[in-house]
Amino acid sequence: MAATATERKLLIGGERVETGDWLEVRSPYSGELVGRVAKGGAAEARRAVDAAARALESPLPAHRRAEILVKVAGLIGRRHEEVARTICEEAGKPIKAARAEASRAMSTYTFAAVEARKLAGEMVPMDAAQAGEGKLGFTVRKPIGVVGAISPFNFPCNLVAHKIAPALAAGCPVVLKPASQTLLSALLLAELELEAGLPAGWLNVVAGTASEIGDVLVEDERVKLITFTGSGDIGWSLAQRAARKRVKLELGNSTPVVVAADADLDAATARLAANAFSFAGQSCISVQRIYVERPAYDAFLERFVPLVEELKVGDPADDDTDVGPVIDEHARERIAAWIEEARAGGAKVLTGGETNGLLRPTVLAQVADDLKVSCDEVFGPVVVVNPVASVDEAIERANGTRYGLQAGVFTTSLDTALRAADGLEFGGVTVNEAPTFRSDQMPYGGVKASGNTKEGPAWAVREMTEERLVVIQR
Ligand code: NAP
Repeated sequence: MAATATERKLLIGGERVETGDWLEVRSPYSGELVGRVAKGGAAEARRAVDAAARALESPLPAHRRAEILVKVAGLIGRRHEEVARTICEEAGKPIKAARAEASRAMSTYTFAAVEARKLAGEMVPMDAAQAGEGKLGFTVRKPIGVVGAISPFNFPCNLVAHKIAPALAAGCPVVLKPASQTLLSALLLAELELEAGLPAGWLNVVAGTASEIGDVLVEDERVKLITFTGSGDIGWSLAQRAARKRVKLELGNSTPVVVAADADLDAATARLAANAFSFAGQSCISVQRIYVERPAYDAFLERFVPLVEELKVGDPADDDTDVGPVIDEHARERIAAWIEEARAGGAKVLTGGETNGLLRPTVLAQVADDLKVSCDEVFGPVVVVNPVASVDEAIERANGTRYGLQAGVFTTSLDTALRAADGLEFGGVTVNEAPTFRSDQMPYGGVKASGNTKEGPAWAVREMTEERLVVIQR
């Protein structure tokens, strides 16, 4: 086992629960066992919903919720390196990116605390209609109820934070099902919640068989909202099966970028080289498709490819590693097969290959739009760079996908920037910044197959509450 190997139990109703069965968490880099976690299923998920429903019977006032959230942010700060090491070991995320993720989780809790204190309804101008004369109207925001949260492996700390922190800010107890490959970060965060004084039942963590736990969250009527981040097939099927609940989906993308001929190519290539390959491309907004206006195409590649080749591939625990492993062997084989399919389909491999079994950042040029690396989500260290005749063509090809999470444009023309912001059919558009950019207070979420919600505490808290109208006859 690794030096930090750890053993964790489930958290249900404030108690650490063993099941007699264990899940192993292994380093994607070395294969070493980094920890083991009690394995639950439907029975534990039901107990967790019971505990959450009981917690809801004793609501926590907003100031108390805010205090707890602020304390969690402080505790992450105090144990920052431990949180980062946990992310690094179980996800194989380079330590510098893992440290950034731990800092972002602090930010997520801090913003959620602000929302807890601000949460309020609004006045309704009743006498704006004749029927409302003599009446006073306002809304109050009530917690929606028990929240079921399902999180992915790629941001095992901050994406868990984006579910737990707004739910608690909204006054909703949570049953969390973290990704099986990265359970330790979620359970560490849960420990910090308890240390911060969160009463029993407000956060329950059930690791184990995903379909069983998911079924309980879908079928139990006390779970009023499911917040899911992960792949589309699973997410949309949950939404279909839980038709009477709010099912909030944060799903994948095949992130495009438009580079206009007038762009600052030094700035564009620097940002794109770093952002196409951070965490080996395993971010839902990792840059995947770059469309460069033809006059700038050669100059773009002359700058871009050397920057990509400078990225250091290796042990995620090393401070200077930029690109580590992908999450597992299955993912590695799939990505390698997609690269091979592109090569066989006529794409030029400008740089790529493998180092000690790790996929190197791969740049493919002149790739047909119907190949998997163009039209599916690669979720690996691969970027496609194609020339286009115009910004309009770039926008059209960027939109030629079922996905719609974030997209970007690089240009020095305000007109082009605004045209792209208007024409790109995505939940967010970045200008002169890679669309991999996210800060934790902004509204973040996709359209089309990429989802149906916005995360960011201010938005998530509203999703997790219901407005009740009060009308008073004066
Ligand atoms: P995934 O395989 O869909 O898993 C996500 C979560 O769903 C895991 O906790 C998984 O549990 C659980 N799950 C699997 N089967 C389930 C079922 N039948 N019922 C209920 N839950 C089930 O996704 P991933 O590989 O972890 O993450 C990669 C995907 O997430 C990519 O598509 C990426 O784009 C997307 N993503 C989106 C965002 C965003 O904000 N839009 C952010 C990050 C990632 P197990 O681990 O136990 O299988």
